[in-house]
Amino acid sequence: MTIRAGVVAVQGDVSEHAVAIERAAARHGTEADVVEIRESGLVEDCDVLLLPGGESTTISRLVHREGIADEIAAHVAAGKPLLATCAGLILVSMDSGDGRVETLNLLDVTVERNAFGRQRDSFEAPLPVTGLDEPFPSVFIRAPAIDEVGDDVDVLAEWDGKPVAVRQGPIVGLSFHPELTDDSRIHDLALFDALKSVRADTQP
Ligand code: GLN
Repeated sequence: MTIRAGVVAVQGDVSEHAVAIERAAARHGTEADVVEIRESGLVEDCDVLLLPGGESTTISRLVHREGIADEIAAHVAAGKPLLATCAGLILVSMDSGDGRVETLNLLDVTVERNAFGRQRDSFEAPLPVTGLDEPFPSVFIRAPAIDEVGDDVDVLAEWDGKPVAVRQGPIVGLSFHPELTDDSRIHDLALFDALKSVRADTQP
């Protein structure tokens, strides 16, 4: 069965996510049809959704302008998996501390933009992540820190004493970029494993 995976592509890194999604689907013995989302009307048909990194102020402006913001909220309300990375995490949070980012208020965390990697623009670290047997090679690029986490949010990984990977219901939010290595285990965990449990719940 082919899974339709939407990657919000109004700005930021998209092609690496498409490759990672296809690789994760293959690990699951399935195929993914990756759809780049730049306009409204496409999210509804997606089984899983990915909100990538980039510049959160720009992504925020464009997803609201294009009418995609409400569709992302509806996708999550339907219990369908969403992986939000870096600027994507900022966007789904409750508060980014920056009035230029109109957050979607879907994930019960507050974040601080550009909290990691200020000195050296980016760094890579092996990160133990709940649900993965080996540490994940995590690339941080002017990454947000998660400051406050609501009661319903599970912390999957921490760096420097702060959460950098969290899960709440169908949403996985990451401070880092899982698409910049050959390792697609997080795409697998957040999208395909999660989809399996959604489908198991909705089977009669
Ligand atoms: N610094 C960016 C922001 O605040 C996020 C960086 C990224 O997505 N790599 O929007």
